[in-house]
Amino acid sequence: MRLVLLGPPGSGKGTQATRLKDRLGVAHISTGDLLRAAVAAGTPLGKIAKATMDAGELVSDDLVLQLLEERLNQPDVANGYILDGYPRNLAQAEALDVLLAKLNQNIDHALALVVSEDHIVERLAQRAAEQRRSDDSEDVVRHRLRVYQEQTAPVVGYYQEKGLLTTIDGVGSLDEISQRLLDAIQGQTKT
Ligand code: AMP
Repeated sequence: MRLVLLGPPGSGKGTQATRLKDRLGVAHISTGDLLRAAVAAGTPLGKIAKATMDAGELVSDDLVLQLLEERLNQPDVANGYILDGYPRNLAQAEALDVLLAKLNQNIDHALALVVSEDHIVERLAQRAAEQRRSDDSEDVVRHRLRVYQEQTAPVVGYYQEKGLLTTIDGVGSLDEISQRLLDAIQGQTKT
């Protein structure tokens, strides 16, 4: 099972991907986590990415694709994976299709979490206080939401056109949202 989880920053993608990975027995691949690990390790790629991430901009497609390709070659992805934070624009969606064709794989479902902007600003303010992420300050959050609208929102349409998309109400308890995601995956599997 290979899934793409879409949704704006603060929509709960990361939290839900962590829960789903346990239920489905697949790997959770977050390009944001891969990038933060590269920054923390001080790798050359991490050094290039840091300023871009702190500004709330997207890291270059080539760098992220390189990280993703390395990750998809690790053995724990054999049972499948949930992509969280990738693809982030149409060029990445197309690059992913090329990479998957090379690996002889395909995406089974794309799930888009829908959450209003008011909820997002509230959740990200909470996360900033809890996790002290350097890109969760209010002005950077607003910029990341704008980047999402301009660059990432079209990716939802990309998967819709392919007939792979289900939109999920991302407001509710963690359990309710996980169940909606599982229902969507299982419902689609049956058809
Ligand atoms: P996230 O944890 O997914 O919110 O990502 C945090 C930051 O990492 C983003 O604001 C971007 O700067 C960078 N990032 C994560 N995934 C990607 C991606 N697929 N393409 C470009 N930049 C990314």
